[in-house]
Amino acid sequence: MSETDFSTLNLHADLLQNLDSLGYHQMTPIQAQSLPAILDGKDVIGQGKTGSGKTAAFGLGLLNKLNVKRFRVQTLVLCPTRELADQVAKELRRLARSIHNIKILTLCGGTPFGPQIGSLEHGAHIIVGTPGRIEEHLRKERLDLSELDTLVLDEADRMLDMGFQESLDVIFGYMPKQRQTLLFSATFPKQIEKIAKDIMSEPVRVEVASTH
Ligand code: ADP
Ligand code: MG
Repeated sequence: MSETDFSTLNLHADLLQNLDSLGYHQMTPIQAQSLPAILDGKDVIGQGKTGSGKTAAFGLGLLNKLNVKRFRVQTLVLCPTRELADQVAKELRRLARSIHNIKILTLCGGTPFGPQIGSLEHGAHIIVGTPGRIEEHLRKERLDLSELDTLVLDEADRMLDMGFQESLDVIFGYMPKQRQTLLFSATFPKQIEKIAKDIMSEPVRVEVASTH
């Protein structure tokens, strides 16, 4: 067994079995460097190119600690665009195939509110969405993040490029301070450093230069 085998991690057996069936045998470099800290509950800042496997890095962390019997929003993943949110939700659903009754909901702009509100009334464990629409659901009191225990900011630099800073600030105000925060970004402009400083606690930094 090599040190980059998923089986070296403290993952639930059903998640490990599912990874095997997906053909994920070896961790990618960013997964190998970040997963031990993520599974340890630490805040993590990850930098890695497109295609380096960042979704499974945070996805396995949040799925491993999720309690499916607690039907509350436990994780929020924020993405810059609807396309990226859909991709993340799709990968999370693949990784979560072994977890029965798990509910992963996407909430993005550009689609009507009505069906989203209906879905929120049915409940979810994980929400994947874009900041503008998430902010709107929070302001309308349709989304309750009071029991959130994991926040993921995916492609944080692109979210800022798209002008989501204000929405993010509003969203951060609706969640408990005591939580795990994972931030992924291709670049680290000052604005990202500031977010990390403001909303993360002693983050572990992981940088991977090349793709696997
Ligand atoms: P990123 O977010 O870093 O751009 P993704 O999370 O979208 O990358 O992953 C890129 C591709 O690699 C996806 O198709 C995913 O299914 C695949 N992948 C991720 N981790 C592994 C792994 N450990 N083994 C095999 N394939 C993987
Ligand atoms: Mg990604």
